[in-house]
This record gives sequence, C-alpha cells and structure tokens, in this order.
Amino acid sequence: GNFVPPIRTNGANTGNMTSRIAGKGDDSIDDSTKRCMEMLCGPDGELPEKLRNLEPRLIEHVSNEIMDQDPHVRWDDIAGLEHAKKCVTEMVIWPLLRPDIFKGCRSPGRGLLLFGPPGTGKTMIGKAIAGEAKATFFYISASSLTSKWIGEGEKLVRALFGVASCRQPAVIFVDEIDSLLSQRKSEGEHESSRRLKTQFLIEMEGFDSGSEQILLIGATNRPQELDEAARRRLTKRLYIPLPSSEARAWIIRNLLEKDALFKLSKEETDTICRLTEGYSGSDMKNLVKDASMGPLRVALRQGIEITKLRKEDMRPVTLQDFENALQEVRPSVSPNELSTYEEWNRQFGSLS
Ligand code: ADP
Repeated sequence: GNFVPPIRTNGANTGNMTSRIAGKGDDSIDDSTKRCMEMLCGPDGELPEKLRNLEPRLIEHVSNEIMDQDPHVRWDDIAGLEHAKKCVTEMVIWPLLRPDIFKGCRSPGRGLLLFGPPGTGKTMIGKAIAGEAKATFFYISASSLTSKWIGEGEKLVRALFGVASCRQPAVIFVDEIDSLLSQRKSEGEHESSRRLKTQFLIEMEGFDSGSEQILLIGATNRPQELDEAARRRLTKRLYIPLPSSEARAWIIRNLLEKDALFKLSKEETDTICRLTEGYSGSDMKNLVKDASMGPLRVALRQGIEITKLRKEDMRPVTLQDFENALQEVRPSVSPNELSTYEEWNRQFGSLS
C-alpha cells in the first residue's frame, strides 16, 4: 500500500498524449507543461493536429508568456486616433465578431500594419482590438525572436501560430515587425533569420487562405525597412501619429483623475498642451508622472516625514508642477522622423 511508483502517473491521459507529441517519456514533462497541454486539447482529449509535432516547452511558453486571455484595454482608454479606431472597427473587429457576414467579397484582410513613432498607442490598439472583439491576444516582439530565441525562432513561430489557431478568434501582435520582415539583405542576411522570415510568411499564408479567425497585427517605427512581401501581406496600413492637442489634454485629465489629482483649469490645461507639441502618448504619461511628484516633493521640503505624510497634506498638481516636469521630460521623437512617416504614409498607407 505504501508503494510509490518511480515515475509520476498523475494525469495518465496527458502522459500518453505528451509522449506522442514530444516523442519522449512522460517524465520529461513537468506538471505545469501538462496542464497547459491539457487546456489545448479538444473535446476528444486529443491535442489538435497543428500542435502534435511541437515541443511542449515551446507550447507552454506561448501559452504562459505570449498569450493574454484578457488584455484589459478598451477603445475608451485610448486618446484620440479616431480615424484608426474607425478603420479598425470596420476592418477587423466586425469580421471577428460576425464571420458569417464577412465572407466572400466582404472577407477581411488578415494582416494589419500599425506604423508611426514609438509610444503612440500601437500596442494599446492591438490589445483593444482583442478586447473589443473578445479575441485572445498574443504579443511577441520580433526582435526577441532573433535575439533571445537564437536558432529556435522558427519553432517558436510555429508554436505561436499553432496555439493561436486553437484559441480563435485570435489577434497576434508582432511588435518591431521590421526586424523580422525587413528588406532582404541578400548576401549579408543571416541564413537563420532568412529561414525565420520564410517560416513566418508561410504561417501567414496558411491562415490567410483559410477560414481561420486569426488577425495578424504588425507594429513598427521603421516602416521604410519593410520589404514588398511584407507590405503585400499587411494589406491595411494605418499611420498612428503623435497625439493631437485634444488627445494630450485627454491623457493629462484621464491620468490625474484616476488619482483624484486633477484640479487644473481649462486655460492651464491649454497652456500645457501648447508646451507639449511633439510629445508622444508615452512622453505625456511620463510627464504626468513627474508632475504628480511635485506636491509630494513640496510637502517633504516643508519638513513632513514621508511615513507621517497624509494625502490631505499635499496640494493638487499645478501648472507649475508641469512646467518643472517639462524640464525633465523631453519629447522622444524628433521632427525629422515625422516627415519620414508622413512620406511613407503617402506612398503606402491606407488613407481610409
Ligand atoms: P507603441 O506600441 O506605439 O510604442 P504603446 O501602445 O506601448 O506605444 O504606448 C505606451 C504607453 O503610452 C501606453 O501604455 C499609454 O500609457 C501611453 N499612450 C500612448 N499612446 C496613447 C494614447 N493614444 N492614449 C492613451 N495613452 C497612450
């Protein structure tokens, strides 16, 4: 009765299943990997065809690190970008919600490119699409495929698309897609990165032709690096510009109101917006963070100890706090860069 088997036997079915997948014994797969594989099995308890020849540890990595069941971003969290929101709703959200209507000549493109300066909300849009369309979100940075997953990038790409096809509808967001689908460097291009790129294009081709509910979103700050093959597959290409003055005002108010710190007048807010021309959404967030430290710094200068400090001891955030913060937080995008995006948008962007 006290006999303890030398090999773990919990989850007997999974043991068989994973052995078949990995071609290895049950003992090579730990419990968390097993749980992950079990969740991907169909109603018959079998692992879908696409995942059978993939390494369980890669499937687990995709499920735990790349997949996000509920990314918690909605349209209302994103300032401005009305044009992009409208295009994206029509082009990708409705088709994901109503695949029965969007077929035949209404069938949607499966690839969307979001390009523009860093920190303007491209990732937020990707998450909001998944949130609004009730889709599973997968986020991967293309540069990590070449830097962190040296030699294994291809396998990880297969695992990514394989898991996504089991989790439909799905949105796969590939950040810095230029580092994966850049213009062929013929001679100089490393053999492994060429293979990775080919694998990626094959996977995209696979779901493009089928009835799969998968959307690929590529994001880049360097659209000019993308080659023709990439442009062909990313049929809709939306410019995500720096936030307008109204959008900057919205970000300030929204962030400060969350902590009940917003007491600025309309004139003061307008002044801050004038002073932040050229700031990205992410720069604005950093600016608000820095400005919101102002009241705290003043209270501490007055000799109140941090451990004894009460919320009532601090005044609201003022225009002066923003003026001080503007000395610290500078815009991260240079005006020259903007003209490159605008030019590329004129040439390749989708204007509607
Ligand atoms: P990108 O993917 O374009 O580099 P992100 O979507 O990652 O930029 O944005 C980084 C951060 O900047 C976000 O988490 C958010 O706090 C802020 N931000 C950027 N753009 C916006 C926006 N349009 N509305 C609200 N916040 C924004």
